[in-house]
Amino acid sequence: MVSFSPFANALAQLKRAAKILALDNLTLNKLQTPERVLTAKIPVPLDNGTTREFVAYRVQYNDARGPFKGGIRYHPGVTEDEVKALAFWMTMKCAAVGLPLGGGKGGVVVNPKELSAGELERLSRGYVQAFYQHLGPTKDVPAPDVYTNSQIMAWMLDEYEHLVGEHAPGMITGKPLSLGGSLGRATATAQGGVYILQELMAKLERSPKNTTVAIQGFGNAGANAAKLLHQLGYKIVAVSDSQGGVYNEDGIDPRKAEAIKQAGGMLGCYCLGTVCTLEQIKTDGPCRAVSNEELLELAVDVLIPAALENQITAANADRIKAKIILELANGPTTPEADEILNKKGTLVVPDILANAGGVTVSYFEQVQNAMNYYWSEEEVSPKLKKIMVDAFAAVWGAKGKHQVDLRTAAFVLAVERVVEAMRERGESNTKKGR
Ligand code: NAD
Repeated sequence: MVSFSPFANALAQLKRAAKILALDNLTLNKLQTPERVLTAKIPVPLDNGTTREFVAYRVQYNDARGPFKGGIRYHPGVTEDEVKALAFWMTMKCAAVGLPLGGGKGGVVVNPKELSAGELERLSRGYVQAFYQHLGPTKDVPAPDVYTNSQIMAWMLDEYEHLVGEHAPGMITGKPLSLGGSLGRATATAQGGVYILQELMAKLERSPKNTTVAIQGFGNAGANAAKLLHQLGYKIVAVSDSQGGVYNEDGIDPRKAEAIKQAGGMLGCYCLGTVCTLEQIKTDGPCRAVSNEELLELAVDVLIPAALENQITAANADRIKAKIILELANGPTTPEADEILNKKGTLVVPDILANAGGVTVSYFEQVQNAMNYYWSEEEVSPKLKKIMVDAFAAVWGAKGKHQVDLRTAAFVLAVERVVEAMRERGESNTKKGR
C-alpha cells in the first residue's frame, strides 16, 4: 500500500530489519513508539502589534544509547507524524554510525520566510520556553534542520541559559563559533555524505571524472555537497531549490549558482549568468530550467535528494535513471520506491548513513563544549572521516552478510545496537516501558 506518512514509512523500514534480526514482539513494540511526544502552542507577538500562535513539537524517541539528539525544523508542512519519523531516524542514525546518542527531533509549523528577524527570534525563544525543562546537555540536544540555522541556535541557547541561570553550551549544536560551535559543523552533513560516496565509488571502481550528479535542495546539505563534489571533479549537471532548478549538460559551477541565488535570483538564472526572472530563463541549448520532479528523473550517474521526504515514490521510481542515490535528505525514498529501485539494481545509500556527518560533528561540538577546549578544523575533519568510512565498511559488510540492500543493512546494524543498549539497561526497557 502506498504511504505518504513518513512515520509509517519509517516503521516499514524498522520491520524489515526486525525480521532479519528475529526481534521479539515486545522489543519491536517498544521501538515502534516514541518515548515522549511534546506539543505546544507558541504565542509570538508580531511586528504589526497582533499575536499569532504557532504549533510546535519535540519528539523524544529513544535515549537508550545517550541523550536524545536531533534538529528543529521550521516549515509550514511540519506534522507530528513527520517529527516522529525524523526522531526515529535520528535514533537509528546515531546508532548506525556508533555515536553514544539517542534520537529526537523538533518542528514548528511556520513559513519562516514570512517572519521578520525579530519575529523569528521571538518564536525561537518561545520554543525554548515551551520545552526547556526537557532539554539540556545530558537530556535532549537540538540542532539545525530545514530552515533553521546557527543564528536560531544562538537565540535558543541564550534563552535556555537565561532560564536555567548558567552557561550550558552543550544544550544545542550547530551554534556560531563565538558561542561554542565546532569548526566543520556547517559543512559536516555534506562532507560526511561525500566521504561515503567516495567509499562507494572506490568499491565500484569508478572515478569522479565524467560522473554526473543532480542535486535536489540547495541549502546546507545540498549546496555544500555540490561545492565539495565539484571540487573533487564530479560534474554537477543539475541543482534545484523550492522554486525549481537548473540543468546544464556542460556542468554547473555551484559557487556561481549560489552567488546568483544569494543576490536574490532563482537557481535557473544560472543559465544566463545573471539575476533574472523566471520568464527570462532560457529553455533551450545546453542549459535550461527544470522542475524538481524533472530533476529526479534526469539521466545522471548520481542523484542526491537534499530537500524533503517522499520525493522518490512508487509514482516515479521506475523513471529514475541514476544508478546511485545518495540520500542527504531524511526520508526522501518511500519503501515502495525502494522495492522498485532495488529490483532495478539502483544503489540507494540510506539517509541514516549518508547524512550522518551532521550529527557526528554535532557530537564533536558537544564533546568540545563539555571539555571547554576547542579543536582546529584539521582535528575535526579526520575524526569525521574515520567515523563515516568505518560506518560505510560496517554497512557494506552487513549488506553482504545478510544479502540485503544498503538501507536494510544499515537498519540491521542500528537496531541491533539500540536493542543491545535497551537490554543492558534491564528488562523494563524492552518489556514494560519505564
Ligand atoms: P536548508 O533549510 O538549509 O535547505 C533546504 C533546501 O531545500 C533549500 O534549498 C530549499 O529551497 C529546498 N527545498 C525546500 N522545499 C523544497 C521542495 N519542495 N523541493 C525542492 N527543494 C526544496 O535545510 P538542510 O539543512 O539542507 O536540510 C535538507 C535535508 O537534509 C532535510 O531533509 C534535512 O532533514 C536533512 N539533513 C540536514 C542536516 C543538517 O545538518 N542541516 C543533517 C542531516 C540531514
